[in-house]
Amino acid sequence: MLNKIKEIDGNALASKALFGVSLEGLTTLMESLGQRAYRAGQLGEALYRQRTPSLDEITTLPVALRESLVAEGYTVGLPEIVQTACSVDGTERYLIRMADGETVETVWMPDGDGGERGDGSLAAEEEEGEEASGTAVAFPYRRATICVSSQVGCAVNCQFCLTAKLGIRRNLTPGEIAGQVAAVLNRHRVDLGSSKGNPTPARINLVFMGMGEPFLNYDSFMDAVRLLVYMRIPESRMTVSTSGILPGILEFAREAVRPKLAVSLNAPNDTIREAIMPITRKWNIAALLEALATIPLRNREWITFEYVMLGGINDSLANADELIALVRNMRCKINLIVWNAGPNMPFHEPPREGVMAFQKRIIAAGIPAYIRRPRGRDIYAACGQLKRTLEPLPPVPLTAISPAASLPG
Ligand code: SAH
Ligand code: SF4
Repeated sequence: MLNKIKEIDGNALASKALFGVSLEGLTTLMESLGQRAYRAGQLGEALYRQRTPSLDEITTLPVALRESLVAEGYTVGLPEIVQTACSVDGTERYLIRMADGETVETVWMPDGDGGERGDGSLAAEEEEGEEASGTAVAFPYRRATICVSSQVGCAVNCQFCLTAKLGIRRNLTPGEIAGQVAAVLNRHRVDLGSSKGNPTPARINLVFMGMGEPFLNYDSFMDAVRLLVYMRIPESRMTVSTSGILPGILEFAREAVRPKLAVSLNAPNDTIREAIMPITRKWNIAALLEALATIPLRNREWITFEYVMLGGINDSLANADELIALVRNMRCKINLIVWNAGPNMPFHEPPREGVMAFQKRIIAAGIPAYIRRPRGRDIYAACGQLKRTLEPLPPVPLTAISPAASLPG
């Protein structure tokens, strides 16, 4: 599968988009244009920290240089938000268009998604501390989570996921992955600032849990992480979720700078997992857990296991006991996600009491377990509901973008 996806990688896109080019790449470009190396730093600053949308607005570069870049066909090339849907809970879902016309979905969730609780991250500490002291600040939010896509569609074919219905169309490039974040931050006029000049920079968390399997687009995903760190989102505020792609996990274990890891376990044994996640036939649960054990967890870092609860399939207390036995010896937490419905899917949401009892059983075994708050279900923005690229854009004018509330700082 890895090879197949490499073949359809979008690297061959004939675009001269600068957004996505590493600082080393920008240096090479400046040298090739006979420019001094510090120009690459200025360009990087404008692209990634100011998020300047067009070359002619990069006023730190001399006019002649800007003009020659334009003459050579270069553009900033940020992906573009072409449609928005706003949920009653404040969540916004965007359809974002790439240079070749392909689209992905990206989600903005004001005030965190609650999924960080218990994972030892900065976001979790903030959330837990605020809850304990009753100081949580409501709208306008000063913290938000962006859910980012890594591929157009997905090849993994989990039976409960709407994105799977798309199949895989192509990988996203590093610029297209980081560019979703830049486009959303620009829409909300978020100032990430630096801790020096800006005592209260906005706190943005990223979850790579949108469309696609990040570890089947590993190199572009990690290049995007490095760009995002340069954009001043620390990796401690990022979480990547994988369905359990072993080569990706083993490579991830060796990264010096990496996000936190969430793994979609979703079943307490191979029989159930094979039925709902066919990828289990390639890499079973034992192999998955063995690969996870190679990750050197940092101080106070835990692995998150996501567990989509499917009524009558994996939600019994006996299933909870099996799950406990599987992960008992790992430094982990369990994130229970009540299945979000999609049309014509042979599943149903488990009863609320059943979910609570399942959670209680896991906690009683000494393993932290959280129920992920569903966000944006009414606009199909919740986990596993991203699939709009299947449908053509409606022939109505693009949704008007209302003036966005901005984050202080
Ligand atoms: N491809 C990656 C990340 C994107 S999916 C992965 O699978 O991990 C993000 C999470 O949503 C995963 O844990 C997945 O199991 C879950 N998910 C998928 N479809 C869902 C649905 N319909 N309802 C609830 N969660 C779902
Ligand atoms: Fe792909 Fe994740 Fe959906 Fe599975 S759950 S099909 S890996 S996006």
